This record gives sequence, C-alpha cells and structure tokens, in this order.
Amino acid sequence: MLDLIIVGAGPAGLSACLYASRAGLDVLILDMGAPGGKLNVTAQIENYPGLKATPGPEIAYTMYESALSFGAKMEYGEVLDIKVVDDHKEVVTAKKTYEAKYVLIATGTKERQMHLPRENELVGKGISYCAVCDGPFFKGEEVAVIGGGNSALEEAMYLASICQTVHLIVRRDVFRADKIIQDRLSKYDNIVIHFKRKPFAIMEENNKVKGLVLTDSDTGEKEELLVKGIFPFIGLDPMSRCVEKLGLINSEGYIDADENMETKVKGIFVAGDVRNKRLRQVVTATNDGAIAGQYIASLKEQE
Ligand code: NDP
Repeated sequence: MLDLIIVGAGPAGLSACLYASRAGLDVLILDMGAPGGKLNVTAQIENYPGLKATPGPEIAYTMYESALSFGAKMEYGEVLDIKVVDDHKEVVTAKKTYEAKYVLIATGTKERQMHLPRENELVGKGISYCAVCDGPFFKGEEVAVIGGGNSALEEAMYLASICQTVHLIVRRDVFRADKIIQDRLSKYDNIVIHFKRKPFAIMEENNKVKGLVLTDSDTGEKEELLVKGIFPFIGLDPMSRCVEKLGLINSEGYIDADENMETKVKGIFVAGDVRNKRLRQVVTATNDGAIAGQYIASLKEQE
C-alpha cells in the first residue's frame, strides 16, 4: 500500500510529488507519456518566475529530476478507473491495479478537436495539434493555424519562423490572446490574419491535407484556402474520464476542490489544469501541486 498515487506527471503532478516525497511519503506517479506534460510541446516558457525564456522540455526534465530526487517512483500506464475501497483507493490501469491511501488527479487537458469530417484520419497527414513537434515537416510551406487565443498566436509565431506563410483563422474580429502576445504577433510579416472566418471542411488530395474551406462568420459565404498543414488551437478539454464514476466532474468536465485541493471525495485530490479554476499556467499548476503535496503529507503525519 502506497501513501500517495499521483495520476499525471505534468508540472502539477511533479510539484506534488516533490513536496510529498520530500516530506517522507511513499509516492508513485503514473503517466501515459513523457514527464512534463504540456511543457514538452511548448517552445519557450517566459512567464515562470525566476526563469528567463527557457525551452519547455528543458524545464520538464529539470522538474522531473527534482521531483524524483526524494525517492518517489514513476511508472507508465493509462489510468482507467479510480475506486474508493474501505479506507483506501484503488487505481486501475490496463495492466495493474495499485493501492494507496491518497490519490491526486493531475491529468491536465488535451487540445480540442475541430470535429470536421476526416479530421482524425488526417492527423499526421497535414493536421497537427503540436507546432513544436510537427512544424519542421512544413518548412517553406503555407500552413493555417485556427484560433485566436494565447496558444494559437504563440504557435503561429513559432511556425512563422519555419514556414513561408502562416494563415491565422479567427472566428471573431478580435483575439482572445493577451495583449503582449498580440503586440508581438503584429511584427510578423508572414502571418496573415483572417478575422471572422471559421473552418468548415478539410480539403484533401492523395490522403493528405490540401487546404481548408472557410466560412464567413457573418454571411456564411465559403472560400478555399490552399495550405499543406492545419494546426487547430481552439481551446482545451479536461482529461477527467478516470474519475467520471466518482461523480467528481462538473458539466464542463473539470474537477472542483477546496483550498487544500481536496475533492468532495475524502482522500482524492486534484491539481493543475484539470481543476476547475480560472488561470491555467505552469505557475498555477505547480502552486496547486505544492499545496496538495504538503497537505497530504500533513494528513499522513496525523494518522
Ligand atoms: P482559449 O480558450 O484561450 O482560446 C481558444 C480560441 O479558439 C479562441 O480564440 C476561440 O474563439 C477559438 N475557438 C474555440 N472554438 C472554436 C471553433 N470551434 N472554431 C474556431 N475557433 C474556435 O484556448 P488556448 O488553448 O489558447 O488557451 C488555453 C489556456 O491556456 C488559456 O487560459 C490561456 O491563457 C493559457 N495559455 C497561456 C499561455 C501563456 O501564458 N503564455 C500560452 C498558451 C495558453 P473565441 O475567442 O471566439 O471563443
């Protein structure tokens, strides 16, 4: 029986791991992929206090090393279910069931899909949700980025350094992104902004993306845009399915917690982007993780 299982090795999970294991708890982190979460697909982080602009994967690696330096372990696996059994919890993956006194959900969010016909089949054939991973495949080409938030603008600027032209498709006539990011974007000559346009259909040729059909948000009029790559950044969806049966998620899929990051199920905690909150940043994820890790350690001490 472990003291704490942390589901998700992003900044929230790694911070909780650091605090709890440093306080002497026996901690296991489970994740489906590489530790670091979205840090791994972020070119530069420039708003984490104490660090100048630093590549996301570099921070991910340092966080991972420091989180595991007090004896915690990490294993790979997709958590399918979490059960409350007597005074402890069972964490079920496809291969194994783990037991722990406390569980922390730090599963984060995933990129929202456009839900257009053939979108899934064309992933890797012109559709990508990660500019840092796939941008170099479109060197010197024309691509489209969908969305007007911080992610879309930052990824558009990243792609502009690789691609010939980046078409930024924004459904309203204003951005949602922070002003500092909008100001920076305005300096790029090869980013063409298409306000009041929405993606309607994906055009393909030989099983590869050939372009996008756009509609005018006001008139519904259609137009074609020839691009080799499409990068949707239209928001994020919470990864909370593993606690669906426990009734922990709200109508948007996020999980509520009190000030100690404890959910309404005693002994189950939540931290990071999957928590119901306003500001989703690396610094707020590490904040949640630290609070949860420290609080769980204090509960263990009282046992
Ligand atoms: P946001 O929800 O902030 O923005 C989503 C954008 O996509 C909006 O412009 C939205 O339009 C548009 N959109 C939504 N659905 C559709 C659709 N079906 N078709 C076309 N456009 C659509 O998501 P982000 O991923 O940009 O950011 C998520 C969070 O992460 C935010 O809190 C953000 O601040 C944060 N973040 C912070 C960064 C930083 O601080 N450097 C970097 C990246 C993200 P509309 O505005 O009309 O709703």
